[in-house]
Amino acid sequence: MPTYNRFPVTLVKGSGSYVWDELGNKFLDYTSGIATCNLGHVPDIVKVEVEKQLQQLWHCSNLYHIPSQEQLASALTEASFGDQVFFCNSGAEANEAALKLARKYAQTVKGTDKFEIVTFQHSFHGRTLATLTATGQEKVKEGFSPLPAGFRHLPYNDMESLDELIQPETCAVMLELVQGEGGVNPADPEWVNQLVKMCRENDVLIIIDEIQTGMGRTGTLFAYEGYGFEPDIMTVAKGLGSGFPIGAVIANEQVAKAFGPGSHGSTFGGNPIVTTAGLATLTHITNSSILTEAKQASAYLIEQLFALKEQFDTIETIRGKGLLQGMVVKEEAATIVAKLRDQHILVLLAGPSVIRILPPLTTTKEEIDQFITALKSVFQTS
Ligand SMILES: *Cc1c(COP(=O)(O)O)cnc(C)c1O
Repeated sequence: MPTYNRFPVTLVKGSGSYVWDELGNKFLDYTSGIATCNLGHVPDIVKVEVEKQLQQLWHCSNLYHIPSQEQLASALTEASFGDQVFFCNSGAEANEAALKLARKYAQTVKGTDKFEIVTFQHSFHGRTLATLTATGQEKVKEGFSPLPAGFRHLPYNDMESLDELIQPETCAVMLELVQGEGGVNPADPEWVNQLVKMCRENDVLIIIDEIQTGMGRTGTLFAYEGYGFEPDIMTVAKGLGSGFPIGAVIANEQVAKAFGPGSHGSTFGGNPIVTTAGLATLTHITNSSILTEAKQASAYLIEQLFALKEQFDTIETIRGKGLLQGMVVKEEAATIVAKLRDQHILVLLAGPSVIRILPPLTTTKEEIDQFITALKSVFQTS
């Protein structure tokens, strides 16, 4: 169905930071399949493990124990605040499950009749009916009414409106710590502090959507680590499986116990193949120097982007965290993205004036130089 405006490129192969089209043209991929191929394309470290699992068992349903799923759950809880994990197949499904869990916790564990979830303007939380309702952008909602009840949106990074954060019916607040699709907006630490404090004082759950920011994208394994607090629920997807479709909801013990047998489920969720990919991906990120190297790469990228800003008036600002960077321009960002594509560089948009730059965590100084050179030539000719 015509749900995408596809770029006129057909991709058939990938390796590291590069992809190739059917004619053999090579592109520098600074989209990482939308923050998904964080280890680069077809990383050996994941491929070897998935190939082994392909010989063993592909699927058996969640009616049985799955070793790679249990290992990935342990690894995720060891590497985060969480105690328990639910696996699904995508980001939207992870958020959908998180919303259900928050309500279930309020209504069964706490015994209240609270139901409301507060989210923020310009957020993006997915495309199911509940998650598009949670999303703070009108364009994803048009034509889908009636939308589920029980959602309210506040301005992001706005201290004053925090006065309205919590109402008697509020059970949870859900947010991204860097809004990805909505314009690459990092959360202001002071605002987050205040929000966390209010949620704690009022017994309201904090759900962090780490679907785009997680798995090392913003410099730490998860973005919340950079903010000095622990959420109650976190959702992860995109980068978790290196391209295999997997989502996860991670919660602390107290909250996780709201779900019992029959509360939620998924046929494919956490199957042997995707959890093998997830385990190999997470193990590599936590056991190697990749996060340190990604931090160095992002520092270099940011420095080079700011140097460009000095040269070209059309660049309004650079913002983001780690290797999730946005370049705000005074012209049509889509035109620049198309011109970069002509130079065999792939980047994304995040709204009409923001170019979203998502290199793999493994990107090198040489690749960043290649990217900056291409950007420079695009700005020189526009
Ligand atoms: C991509 C994304 C989602 C939705 O994930 P899907 O796998 O496309 O369903 C939700 N939240 C954020 C922050 C995202 O970036």
